[in-house]
Amino acid sequence: MKHTKVKDLLNSTKTLHEVNAKGWVRTFRNNQFIALNDGSTIHNIQCVVDFENTPEETLKRITTGAAVSVTGDLVESKGAGQKFEIQVKKLEILGDSDAEKFPMQPKKHSLEFLRENAHLRVRTNAFGAIMRVRSVLSFAVHQYFQERGFVYVNTPVITGADAEGAGEMFQVTSLPLDNLPKTEEGNIDYKKDFFGKHTNLTVSGQLEAETFAMALGQVYTFGPTFRAENSNTSRHLAEFWMIEPEVAFNDLDDNMDLAEDFIQYVIKYTMEKCADDLKFLEGRLLEEEKSKPQADRSEMPLLEKLNFVLENNFKRVSYTEAIDILRNSTPNKKKKFQYIIEEWGADLQSEHERFLVEKHFKCPVILYDYPANIKAFYMRLNDNTEPGKETVRAMDILFPGIGEIVGGSQREERLDVLMEKMKTIGIDEEELWWYLDTRRFGSAVHSGFGLGFERLVLFVTGMTNIRDVIPFPRTPGSAEF
Ligand code: ATP
Ligand code: MN
Repeated sequence: MKHTKVKDLLNSTKTLHEVNAKGWVRTFRNNQFIALNDGSTIHNIQCVVDFENTPEETLKRITTGAAVSVTGDLVESKGAGQKFEIQVKKLEILGDSDAEKFPMQPKKHSLEFLRENAHLRVRTNAFGAIMRVRSVLSFAVHQYFQERGFVYVNTPVITGADAEGAGEMFQVTSLPLDNLPKTEEGNIDYKKDFFGKHTNLTVSGQLEAETFAMALGQVYTFGPTFRAENSNTSRHLAEFWMIEPEVAFNDLDDNMDLAEDFIQYVIKYTMEKCADDLKFLEGRLLEEEKSKPQADRSEMPLLEKLNFVLENNFKRVSYTEAIDILRNSTPNKKKKFQYIIEEWGADLQSEHERFLVEKHFKCPVILYDYPANIKAFYMRLNDNTEPGKETVRAMDILFPGIGEIVGGSQREERLDVLMEKMKTIGIDEEELWWYLDTRRFGSAVHSGFGLGFERLVLFVTGMTNIRDVIPFPRTPGSAEF
């Protein structure tokens, strides 16, 4: 007999004769009521066991975590809280779970403890919900771009380009680390390495995506990226998934429009498909925040916050305006910021970004036109900027509770300006010969951005630590599983 998903049983419009469900026991009460979950929904189905006619031996094996198969009738439930339940006629234990040893007891566990048991935490309500939301969000990403004719491009995970500059890289090598081949000068001889050169894990697929945009028009990547971030923050992973659209003939305003429309679309899509999970996560967040001081709690419940993002335009503010706001802000004057903003040109720290988003504008903010020397080499130099005050067509999107969620720019399309910039900051043009070819042959205005997928999942689920929205987090000192 084929089993029916718990979700479908709970959504049934009528009672059913002889159904089969398979799943894992969440709780077993009064020797009679199994709360069964199979991962198809946040909700459990209640299975009522006829304990008088079930051997004591079997009843003892219905423990939290055990895999079971139940067969019986789907009937209207007498108990509160559910419409239907299964009146069990036949019960089979598929896999025992030692109640003494199973770590996921039906009680509240700390997120730290759950991280150490990442292979089992997905059996909890919260992590089941987070991982379903993550899955739906990633589908929404593809749907958004595919519906609009973007081409999905898989950029390499192993890269020969050292110059991406987005962060510290992990080296990839097949050389024996205890016996490295050396050149005559005594340096490591990478000619002997697998690829005949020094290689790394990618920190961004942007440069390769740009080459595709200059042929296919609108493209996007959605893949893993790696950064040897040595700081332990709640916003950084060493391995994370990034979405990078790149569009020919888009200028910075088009780029901002795309990013805003895209984010709103995927959030809306997920709110429609994951209503139950998000409702559960909203409750979880409220509960968690009860133990926090008022000032640290979210201003809005989760769903209201998500709706707020859908209904309000992101506030677009130039870097220069932002610096003025920050310079005159109370925390700056009272020296409450760790980094005091003294003058134009200062790099914004996360404390400044959060002040702008959470205290000043109280909505998502797009900051644009940053000083050229705090941004990457490939960003489009603004025309008519004062010498010493050059700005580039960069944009960062800042979200409440998260800080930066998107970093993007219009790209420098002029070969001479790009080469001049690379020379000034010491990037070898030989190394990026293929990238420069996009500017040599049929160059055109184009723009793109990178969105850290886990930061989006953080925002949508209301979680606060990025380690809790990826199945198996990789962070400094931690690569278990
Ligand atoms: P941050 O200042 O937060 O370190 P960044 O400026 O290094 O970010 P970009 O290089 O612009 O980020 O990368 C694009 C996006 O990728 C960021 O906006 C963010 O959403 C995400 N991102 C960057 N680094 C990480 C990381 N280590 N873990 C998870 N997401 C990240
Ligand atoms: Mn970074």
